[in-house]
Amino acid sequence: MSAPDPTLVPALRDLAATPFEAQVIAALPVDPDDDPVPRAVPGVSLSRVRPTPVVSPKLLAWSDALGEELGLARPTAGSAALAILAGNALAPGMQPYAARYGGHQFGHWAGQLGDGRAITLGELSCPRSEGADATAYELQLKGAGMTPYSRHADGRAVLRSSLREFVCSEAMHALGVPTTRALSLVGTGEAVLRDMFYDGNARTEPGAVVCRVAPTFLRFGNYEIHAAFGEQESLQRLMAHTLRRHYPHIDASDPAAPLHWFSEVCERTAVMVAHWMRVGFVHGVMNTDNMSILGLTLDYGPYGFLEGYDPQWTPNTTDAAGRRYAYGQQPQVALWNLSRLAGALRSLVDGDDGLHAALERYRELFGRTHRTMSAAKLGLGSLAEPGDAEWHNELFGLLAATETDMPIFFRQLSASVPGAGIASGDDAALLAPVRAALYDPDTLDAALAARWRQWLLRWQQRLTHEALSAEQIVARMDAVNPLYLPRNYLAQEAIDAAEQGDLAPLLSLMRVLQRPYVAQAGCDAYAARRPEWARQRPGCSALSCSS
Ligand code: AMP
Ligand code: MG
Repeated sequence: MSAPDPTLVPALRDLAATPFEAQVIAALPVDPDDDPVPRAVPGVSLSRVRPTPVVSPKLLAWSDALGEELGLARPTAGSAALAILAGNALAPGMQPYAARYGGHQFGHWAGQLGDGRAITLGELSCPRSEGADATAYELQLKGAGMTPYSRHADGRAVLRSSLREFVCSEAMHALGVPTTRALSLVGTGEAVLRDMFYDGNARTEPGAVVCRVAPTFLRFGNYEIHAAFGEQESLQRLMAHTLRRHYPHIDASDPAAPLHWFSEVCERTAVMVAHWMRVGFVHGVMNTDNMSILGLTLDYGPYGFLEGYDPQWTPNTTDAAGRRYAYGQQPQVALWNLSRLAGALRSLVDGDDGLHAALERYRELFGRTHRTMSAAKLGLGSLAEPGDAEWHNELFGLLAATETDMPIFFRQLSASVPGAGIASGDDAALLAPVRAALYDPDTLDAALAARWRQWLLRWQQRLTHEALSAEQIVARMDAVNPLYLPRNYLAQEAIDAAEQGDLAPLLSLMRVLQRPYVAQAGCDAYAARRPEWARQRPGCSALSCSS
């Protein structure tokens, strides 16, 4: 490939000199009171609020990939652009606000929540290259200070949780999972008080601000709150804005437009959750206030990636008893959440039949997408042959029978496709993907090994039905089975170093996670099983909500 012609590459802009728009402010009902003190804010969709300045902003990390997509240059130390990303200044046209939303938390209606520490700065129009349509992105600061929705909290975020959100947002994008993005991670130079274990032992931690980016951060809860409080006119305005701005292909004058929209939200949510299951992502807090209307992974808190396969696993210690948001629960929970959104839309839709049909569409599309992805993970075009379903279930029974690292197993499986350098009939080679993924090799007893052999032999047999070469099968598998993931212990290592002022581990992790499907020289440690020391250490496997 020849190098791009430098005269055709648009120069990156200075954020501080980039004009922003505030269409959301013009379109939605705005709180008449601009006092940031926490309070009930009836009727409106948002409140104007300015970020609270911080003493000593320092750029800790920047996403070059997103910066290029947005056409924004990395800010230099002391620059006006850095001040904006810290919440200390505004770019031209920015009219910052916090959104009002409600939500169902852990199955119960929680009333008004809202952006308690997130402040949207404005909308940035991005001329996309290659003739694609221009897209507007919202830039939102998380951890930028108090808003009317801060309730009893401080509006701030700690470095540990901010770094996790920054890393995972960009990693998920590289994994091909729909997600909000993260542009920058800025240290505030201020301490934040947190009780990490909710045990009365609060300590101060370094504070940080993440700049998140998405076409919109609208959640199911934005619609739910208007419906719950009978704010019909606000609900209608929010719906009209949503259609005009984010679903322009739906004819807003059609009385069935809200239903068509809901059906698309169901579809996007189905695809998002199927991707989560594919890569082993566990969101951890799937409350309806954390569900995006664009089907983007939203609000990275106590998330995690499955290591040892266990459908009951949750990284969120707050959910350890109920396991409502465990890995295997996510498809059902998303449907439950969509049902809450459906409930909020009843006044806009004629009868319930269409809403039920849309929910059914979720079920059907999730099932189909999940099956297609599950097949591809095994190198297959489909799982539709007689006996495939039982055989596929047996795999998950085997993975769960003894602690087996799911990502490593799938990645090692592609390395054992017969014909791609591995001879069939070699028992050690046959069981190699299992042995590589086991946390304790002694747990592979004779009975289990026999079941695995049977399963793997059928897999080899099943591959012969595919009209693809061994190399093509490997490519199919490696395109959907990630090699590198932001495992919690890797993020924690980056956090420990960053808290000591060493950003090198964070930068290395970010670099590796940019290309999660491609083996990179010298990066084996990032693709390895979680080390034993990380099993019980806080942050390395399980996390609390405290951030
Ligand atoms: P989350 O569990 O992060 O989705 O947050 C649930 C609600 O609590 C949202 O309304 C957040 O804005 C709010 N919240 C969480 N942490 C803070 C904080 N430190 N300050 C203010 N509000 C917060
Ligand atoms: Mg949230």
